[in-house]
Amino acid sequence: MIRENLKEVEKNICRACEKAGRDRSEVTLIAVSKTKPVEDIMEAYEAGIRDFGENKVQELSEKYEKLPKDIRWHMIGHLQRNKVKNVVGKAVLIHSVDSLELAREINRQAEKQNIRADILLEVNIANEETKFGVGYDNVSELAKSIIELPYVNVKGLMCIAPYVVDSEQNRKFFKKMLKLDVDIMSKLCNNIHGDVMSMGMTCDYGVAIEEGATMVRVGTGIFGERDYSI
Ligand SMILES: *Cc1c(COP(=O)(O)O)cnc(C)c1O
Repeated sequence: MIRENLKEVEKNICRACEKAGRDRSEVTLIAVSKTKPVEDIMEAYEAGIRDFGENKVQELSEKYEKLPKDIRWHMIGHLQRNKVKNVVGKAVLIHSVDSLELAREINRQAEKQNIRADILLEVNIANEETKFGVGYDNVSELAKSIIELPYVNVKGLMCIAPYVVDSEQNRKFFKKMLKLDVDIMSKLCNNIHGDVMSMGMTCDYGVAIEEGATMVRVGTGIFGERDYSI
């Protein structure tokens, strides 16, 4: 099932790239494996997937220990400061940085390990009360402070758009993200180390790619529905 789902997702990614005149290589598919067992992850791994996303530090750490070391783990969930030490050095990219305090703690832990931690700034693009992320108007200021930290690389931006049935409804938010990216890049271009746009989930990754996503985070579309009761 996972293998077939992946084929379908890959087809959709290719179609969106084609539509937008982009090269397939510009987009990384992150398979969001939260709540899913290692067997499922191995099935996707065997099919060629190497980027996996988790939203809990504990779960990411456990899977990190059990699974092949060439997997690139992405921390995509809300991160508490006291858990930072368990994820720096394991996750290749922390997508969910939305405060200077959190960035400072990542900086501190990265310094201890003598590495540089790659991060994204999470933007609350639709201003939803239930979501984490820095507000649209505060992204630039937060980015300016964080790029001063020597052991942190700001690689780009991330957002979780609202859950929608019709993906077109989120196009406006992805457009806003791209504008933010362009605005911040042009202002801070010497200090920002990349141009990652992590946006698009099962319900809207096609539209996200059309609007410039470089990473899409797909869970349900690959692994099926999640069961949070177990
Ligand atoms: C769970 C999750 C996803 C994947 O969601 P699906 O709708 O299952 O594709 C993507 N991003 C984040 C931050 C998530 O927590």
